[in-house]
Amino acid sequence: MHIGCPKEIKPQEFRVGVTPNAAREAVAHGHDVTIETGAGEGAGFPDADYIDAGAKIAGSAKDVFETADMIVKVKEPQAGERKMLRDGQLLFTYLHLAPDPEQTKDLLASGATCIAYETVTDANGGLPLLAPMSEVAGRLAPQVGAWTLQKANGGRGVLMGGVPGVGPAKVVVIGGGVVGTHAARIASGMGADVTVLDRFLPRLRYLDDVFGRSFKTSYASAGNTAELVQQADMVVGAVLIPGAAAPKLISRAQLSDMKPGAALVDVAIDQGGCFETSKATTHEDPIYDVDGIMHYCVANMPGAVARTSTIALGNATMPFMLALADKGWRQACEDDPHLLNGLNVHAGSLTYYAVGKALGMDV
Ligand code: NAD
Repeated sequence: MHIGCPKEIKPQEFRVGVTPNAAREAVAHGHDVTIETGAGEGAGFPDADYIDAGAKIAGSAKDVFETADMIVKVKEPQAGERKMLRDGQLLFTYLHLAPDPEQTKDLLASGATCIAYETVTDANGGLPLLAPMSEVAGRLAPQVGAWTLQKANGGRGVLMGGVPGVGPAKVVVIGGGVVGTHAARIASGMGADVTVLDRFLPRLRYLDDVFGRSFKTSYASAGNTAELVQQADMVVGAVLIPGAAAPKLISRAQLSDMKPGAALVDVAIDQGGCFETSKATTHEDPIYDVDGIMHYCVANMPGAVARTSTIALGNATMPFMLALADKGWRQACEDDPHLLNGLNVHAGSLTYYAVGKALGMDV
């Protein structure tokens, strides 16, 4: 099969869909790989790395779309890219179609077969192609929160680990899933005093079993949450209710009970945010102040560490990309029901129930 990878064109997107390592494996499996020139630059992979891996370099996205049987990307195709998709072509990338009727219509019109990273599942009920980005955002949260806490950034001027004679920062993580667990691990590793809140007791049991005394756990009742938030130097919002907007767990009124200059890092901002005062920000201008509390609400946190994110995503997508290339999408999906769950659009039909329901379209 001929695998093509164009350069991402969404603003501030520096990741790339195929790493040189993934290209090398695909070539070893007997496939042709074409990468648009400069596609890997943002993640620190020059064209030479791809040539070394046995891939060809194309001068434009048009050349990639025209020649490839399967397009592998990171972000959903933008309007111009969607025009280049053709009947029978395979698209493997994040799509997030439910809130995006324009994209859905274009993909249906293209006749392409579109497999969305975000709906591929695994045997444990997880989302293996979303998890790496949650791991990245979770581990990044205490790092950006620590920066937000610095005085020059409007923060409280508190050092995460304290020093001998001065206690550490108090960090509260709301939501103990993938993001929350990774945030708690890093905050605890930085020496902070960390508590993780969740509403799912088995998850708290798991965290307690696995992480022991590295951090505390607490049930996320409104009372416990309010009490811990008042004492916190940093709060990380990491909740998810699948398919729904994030619940608002800290109201504006509660900000006045918090320590002045405390940091709120709302990782759940991509689902609307879990603090009433959250609004999405960008890497260029990531923080803002509401009532003396500093908010960090960047919706695409993994973009800040494009190289790590690209490699992490590539590790997760590569086995699926190889299965699709080796067997063709039909056989690959027949052999793997979890990959089949990724199928959102095929030959002009919508094939994913939740997307159809959200958009009021037939599936
Ligand atoms: P997850 O499903 O692994 O974990 C979510 C956890 O929240 C679960 O353990 C659940 O029990 C808990 N929860 C739900 N409602 C709660 C409540 N009211 N109080 C306390 N806990 C509650 O999800 P995840 O992968 O960790 O993702 C968390 C959020 O981070 C999602 O909204 C995801 O989209 C977002 N995210 C954002 C970025 C970014 O760049 N901003 C990157 C990756 C993920």
